[in-house]
Amino acid sequence: MSKVKIKAIRGMHDILPGEISYWHYLETNFSHCVESYGYREIRTPILENTNLFKRGVGETTDIVEKEMYTFADRNNESLTLRPEGTAGVVRAGIEHSLFYKQTQRLWYHGFNFRYERPQKGRYRQFYQLGVEAFGMPGPDIDIELLLLTWRFWQQVGLAEDLTLEINTLGTFTERQQYNHALVDYFSQHSDKLDEDSQGRLHKNPLRILDSKNPEMQTLIAAAPILTEFLSEDSQARFNKICQALDTMQIPYRVNPRLVRGLDYYCHTVFEWVSDQLGAQGTVCAGGRYDGLVAQLGGEEVPAFGFAMGIERLVLLLQQQTLDFQQHLDIYLISLGEQAQQQALLLAEQIHDCLPNIAILNNCGGGSFKSQMKRADKSGAKIALLLGEDEMKMKKISIKYLREQREQEIIALADLPATLQQIFAEEK
Ligand code: ATP
Ligand code: MG
Repeated sequence: MSKVKIKAIRGMHDILPGEISYWHYLETNFSHCVESYGYREIRTPILENTNLFKRGVGETTDIVEKEMYTFADRNNESLTLRPEGTAGVVRAGIEHSLFYKQTQRLWYHGFNFRYERPQKGRYRQFYQLGVEAFGMPGPDIDIELLLLTWRFWQQVGLAEDLTLEINTLGTFTERQQYNHALVDYFSQHSDKLDEDSQGRLHKNPLRILDSKNPEMQTLIAAAPILTEFLSEDSQARFNKICQALDTMQIPYRVNPRLVRGLDYYCHTVFEWVSDQLGAQGTVCAGGRYDGLVAQLGGEEVPAFGFAMGIERLVLLLQQQTLDFQQHLDIYLISLGEQAQQQALLLAEQIHDCLPNIAILNNCGGGSFKSQMKRADKSGAKIALLLGEDEMKMKKISIKYLREQREQEIIALADLPATLQQIFAEEK
């Protein structure tokens, strides 16, 4: 047999027990937060027909041009591991008539796959939490979702680390006019365009503004801005959103250069960004995408949504002094074969009477000293000791690990009631 170790795929990470509490913390808070606004979960397959993403994400985007994991299955059908969540949710909504004469507030969570250059905060498998609202033209729902994201940051203690950047793209027609102006402008300076931008010039000029190339930034800074092409209606709509943010005292920055380079976005677009994550500063991005449902074969359905990347949020949380230790209440020590067997049954009894208690049974034996050491390290509040003496007397000893308190010995039969007392305040 070959001894060569098989490793995880580049850019795809194991999430080890030491890190998982951050994930649980974010996932649990997120689901509570969105459910409290009336959003309901939807789960779609991780694999979809490749055409869904070509049409739903856009042929001229980075994702479709160079980041997708696409392969032929045994039947020679082209399938793609989902690179983002929205297209699958929209497909499911159309397929199951979820948008027919009704609104939908949906949320999802799950892994996505993009073939990108791995670096801190950028991986080939990454996890998103997201929300999509269908059938509501806004701007009320746009505002609701911005407020929801703000509430979530407050709940998880990240509000001070993040800034909201917001912009409006106007209607499709207004953006079309802006596109023409951009093509004119960049064509006049075509000698200064890098290769990527040359390619985008006629296919999707908005995306030139997205360029991260430092040498392009002066040229981009002097490009026409979209605001000049907005109608009064679009401007008024955007003002309403800004006013709501003002009223709720949510700090934000209008960034006229913020664009989502996809055809189906319109009006509101936004990002929550951190300055602590280098180039991977955006932790949450979204906006209005009124054109997508029709583009994927459905009716005209207005929609608004966002997605946030868990890994980047975990990086932010890890810089804080939050307590993310495993939570354990009882460490169960047993000495001798008989006591070991009894301990297994005892643990079951405790699970029955006190279902919210976390109890760790010391499986695998060991001396009293080594078991006590493990108990101390475990973070549990108490250790229960079942030795030979205790077994003979049908008793059990309680050792308090986190407070100066004498060890006690009680009748086994009294254990449930005693534990109930000990953990009464916490559970
Ligand atoms: P970026 O500009 O950083 O590439 P994006 O515009 O491609 O981001 P979106 O498609 O808007 O990202 O995805 C929403 C969020 O998902 C991002 O803000 C980020 O938090 C997260 N995300 C996207 N791609 C990755 C990745 N490769 N690794 C980790 N998180 C990611
Ligand atoms: Mg990207």
